[in-house]
Amino acid sequence: MKRISFLLLIGFVMVSCQSMSQSNKKQPNCKIAKVTKTEAEWRKMLTSEQFNVTRKAGTERAFTGEYWDNHAEGTYLCRCCGFELFDSKTKFESGTGWPSFWKPINECSVEVGTDTSYGMVRDEVRCHRCDAHLGHVFNDGPRPTGLRYCMNSASLKFVAKK
Ligand code: FE
Repeated sequence: MKRISFLLLIGFVMVSCQSMSQSNKKQPNCKIAKVTKTEAEWRKMLTSEQFNVTRKAGTERAFTGEYWDNHAEGTYLCRCCGFELFDSKTKFESGTGWPSFWKPINECSVEVGTDTSYGMVRDEVRCHRCDAHLGHVFNDGPRPTGLRYCMNSASLKFVAKK
C-alpha cells in the first residue's frame, strides 16, 4: 500500500512538473513540411557525434563543440536539414561551454517538448522541420526573453554573414 501511494505521488509530481513546464510555453501553430529520412540515410550524411546528438538525443561534452566560443556574425542552421534556427545576434556568453541563444530565429524554427530522461524534467528543443535534437531550453537566460536555449554545436551548422 505504501509503495502504491509512493508511486502515485511520483506520478502526480511528474504530471504537475510537465504541465507546469508546458504551460510556460506558447506553442505556435506552425505548418512546416517535415523532412524525414531513415536512420541509415542520416548516418550516411552525419559524423557519428552529429548522429548521436541529433538523432539519438545525445549531448556533446561542454567546451568541446565547434561553436560555444564562436563570435562571428551569421546564421546557425540545422546540421541535418539546413533549416534556419538561430541568429548570432541572439547568442550570448552563458559560461556553460555550449552555444547559447535567448531566442530562435523565428517562432516556428524549433519545437519544444518534454524530456524526462536522467530523472529530470527538461524542455527539449528540436528542429521543427526534421526533428533533430538540438538541446534544451531553460528559464535562466538574459533579457529580453529570460530564456536560455542551450544547444549542441553538433546539431548546428554556422554560416557566416557575407
Ligand atoms: Fe532540421
